[in-house]
Amino acid sequence: MAKKYVYFFGAGAAEGNMKMKNLLGGKGANLAEMAGIGLPVPPGFTVSTEVCQLFYKNKKKIPEAVKLEIEKNLKKLEKAVGQALGDPKNPLLVSIRSGARASMPGMMDTILNLGLNEKTVAALIAKTNNPRFVYDSYRRFVQMYGDVVLDLKPVSKDDIDPFEAIIEQKKHERGVGNDTDLTADDLKDLVAAFKAAIKAKTGHDFPEDPMKQLWGAVGSVFSSWMNERAIAYRKLYDIPESWGTAVNVQLMVFGNMGNDSGTGVAFTRDAATGENTFYGEYLMNAQGEDVVAGTRTPLPIAELKKDDAKGYAQLEKIRHILEKHYADMMDVEFTIQQGRLYMLQCRVGKRTAFAAIKIAVDMVEEKLIGEKEALARIEPDQLNQLLRPIFDPAQKEVAIKGGRLLVKGLNAGPGAATGRIVFNSVDAEAWVRKGEKVILTRIETSPEDIKGMNAAEGILTARGGMTSHAALVARQMGKVCVAGCGDLVIDYGRRTMTVKDRTLKEGDWISIDGTTGQVLEGKLNTKPSEVLQVLIDKTLDPAQAPVYQTFAKIMKWADKVRTLKIRTNADQPDQSANAVAFGAEGIGLCRTEHMFFGEGKIGPMREMILADTLDQRKTALAKLLPLQRQDFAGIFEVMNGRPVTIRTIDPPLHEFLPHEEKEQRALAQQMGISFEKVKERVESLHEFNPMLGFRGCRLGIIYPEITAMQARAVFEAAAATKKKGINVEPEVMIPLVGHVKELDHQTKIVRETAAAVMKEQGVKFKYLVGTMIEIPRGALTADEIAVVAEFFSFGTNDLTQTTLGVSRDDAARFLIPYVEKEIYSKDPFEVLDRDGVGRLMRMAVEKGRRTRPAIKLGICGEHGGDPSSVEFCHMIGLNYVSCSPFRVPIARLAAARAALLTPPAPKPAQRKKASKK
Ligand code: ADP
Ligand code: MG
Ligand code: MG
Repeated sequence: MAKKYVYFFGAGAAEGNMKMKNLLGGKGANLAEMAGIGLPVPPGFTVSTEVCQLFYKNKKKIPEAVKLEIEKNLKKLEKAVGQALGDPKNPLLVSIRSGARASMPGMMDTILNLGLNEKTVAALIAKTNNPRFVYDSYRRFVQMYGDVVLDLKPVSKDDIDPFEAIIEQKKHERGVGNDTDLTADDLKDLVAAFKAAIKAKTGHDFPEDPMKQLWGAVGSVFSSWMNERAIAYRKLYDIPESWGTAVNVQLMVFGNMGNDSGTGVAFTRDAATGENTFYGEYLMNAQGEDVVAGTRTPLPIAELKKDDAKGYAQLEKIRHILEKHYADMMDVEFTIQQGRLYMLQCRVGKRTAFAAIKIAVDMVEEKLIGEKEALARIEPDQLNQLLRPIFDPAQKEVAIKGGRLLVKGLNAGPGAATGRIVFNSVDAEAWVRKGEKVILTRIETSPEDIKGMNAAEGILTARGGMTSHAALVARQMGKVCVAGCGDLVIDYGRRTMTVKDRTLKEGDWISIDGTTGQVLEGKLNTKPSEVLQVLIDKTLDPAQAPVYQTFAKIMKWADKVRTLKIRTNADQPDQSANAVAFGAEGIGLCRTEHMFFGEGKIGPMREMILADTLDQRKTALAKLLPLQRQDFAGIFEVMNGRPVTIRTIDPPLHEFLPHEEKEQRALAQQMGISFEKVKERVESLHEFNPMLGFRGCRLGIIYPEITAMQARAVFEAAAATKKKGINVEPEVMIPLVGHVKELDHQTKIVRETAAAVMKEQGVKFKYLVGTMIEIPRGALTADEIAVVAEFFSFGTNDLTQTTLGVSRDDAARFLIPYVEKEIYSKDPFEVLDRDGVGRLMRMAVEKGRRTRPAIKLGICGEHGGDPSSVEFCHMIGLNYVSCSPFRVPIARLAAARAALLTPPAPKPAQRKKASKK
């Protein structure tokens, strides 16, 4: 049998269906589907996307065999409707419509009312007794054909369309405002003027022969696949050129036959909010794109009840039929011709993140889809929409219209925040103590800014990427953050920030939208999300919170299917409590160094670092011990028996030291040593590559008393908690291990301390000692390291830095261009580099499990909260991921989707021989 290129649809049957999108394009497949289930679709046929490829291979000509098949289907259509193309009594009019596999709205071309010429116009007038309608259709046809096939287009974007110019002139001449005010004679004049313009431009007469019109139109639709707009759109949405477009030839129905006719577009639910209400617009006495063209203002769909009650009722019915059939929210086009409704298009409707979530959840309740399907339809990051404080949308729009948008940066910490500008951490805290709301505005942030960041409503930086210090800490704290606003010039000395010609000073109000990256001048009202009001503030009754209910359902369904555990990165009791409220099942990373910046701690910490002798150091450590113990006890209590991984000190010591003279003098006085000495020590701690320098376990190996103090603080806190009747499961984690002997050295100290504390306190508790895998040597020798380590936690921030040889803090300059050039498809600090870093992780998992089958495996890098990276962690068989508190719900959903979409990792091969332990 010869290959089939053309598929007929209509009159309650169709050769295609919705599954044939690749062949028929989305429009063709869904027209066939709607016709197949008996909806009123004007009959027609679809020329397949394969013909598009043939067309380009055949020097942009339709192959003869395909032409024959089209002619055969045209005959079939003529027979079905009792009209014929070019017939002087009963002429057939058709539309020629593009339609690719993926929707490319408005990118390619469509021609309506094809088949009109001087003869058929006369026939149609005789038949309808409605010359205005006929000439309206005719002028539209000549206009579209002239534009699409004969290339009479505006030269540039700012240029006026040559046909619209003629229409405008006519309206002006006749002193009317609307196209609808033009009479049949006016429209007839327009046709003549259009044709004259075409002749002037092309040197040819407008084609009278309908078959010639047809071939010209079909060819042009195929050609429109390669127009500039379409190419640009494909590039933007990663649509391959090889897909091609289909061409649909379809019987015309007319919404422009008078006031009993009309046309419209609608969504089966509200595409902005997800409400289960009909959502759309229509115009009476209109055709095609009039509704979206903006020449006349369309009416809300509900009004159609008044204009055509019967049509509206039928449309309502079809809305339900479609939703039931497609089990999704659909976007439809329809036309009413003299009281009869026709469906012209349907496709799955685009929607906001908020609507996507609501619709998926509602459709489970309505039994249209199952729980798993709902999970598959919600992108984990979309959950942010439910968690973030929000600006009052109307107020924001007014502000933008009023020119208050200053600049756009990276949307690093979603949500909305408004406050007064302050330029440093100390001021931020001071202002907040006075009851002000502030936005901490910095060139970039560093660990010293933590307290100010915590106090501020939001953080704004001029430099730094999505994983800059500001972005990372903001997310952990759940703070709104706009980072890396390149156009922002901050002058700490003058206390001003300048964007182009506008300068704001300390104390001025500013509003930042971390969901979009927008920075606005002035104050905007915000409110916490419902979910936060219920879970964190506990100020809202869940029963009164529909958005929270939606959120809770998604989380319940996700927890049913996921196999990965979700932990959190937290180092304060309140952060931990938030994470637990969001569903965290443990702490995967407690960074002890963040604690040292807390109240009263930085002093002894600095003393410890600047100590000259072991005795001095021990004195300082003795001051830190009770402070750390108290911090750990607070966390253990909040975590209530859930595992808590505590990392021993990690960053280079100089990060803790004062770098300004004033601070150094104060410290010298406090310690009773000379300023010069302090200055000298600070300078001596300078390193060329601090990230590869004296940090991580190296600190604890050179100064074992630090590890001993930290272990003691952990275990004494554990003992105290245990005595209160609360279970504890501390996991002590040694950072930056590359050699098993490093871990061995530190583990001995930790175990000795644990034994001592248990003896002193007379309590027993379980604990683990393990390591981070964050430098390649650690991954490469994971089998050896697992002899000592009871768990691995992949520190993928450092593992990415060291595997790629890229410093995260210096990467912005080249990594963004790298991603643009697709050298890395995503920022590897945001989305795990599976082929490089991932390969090391996979190797470490295998080696680790081979040595110690029961080894606990997790991840605590920023990637633990990134959905794609969570999926990879599921695939390689980790036990848990750990992320910042506010990403816990996202990780829960991502883990569930990974479990649904990706087969679980094969069970680790249990070795017959007992592992060496
Ligand atoms: P797009 O893909 O850009 O939406 P369409 O092929 O859907 O283009 O057509 C553009 C407009 O013309 C739409 O409003 C559509 O409803 C209308 N239209 C297309 N074919 C017909 C037809 N056979 N009868 C009436 N209106 C039509
Ligand atoms: Mg359309
Ligand atoms: Mg690290």
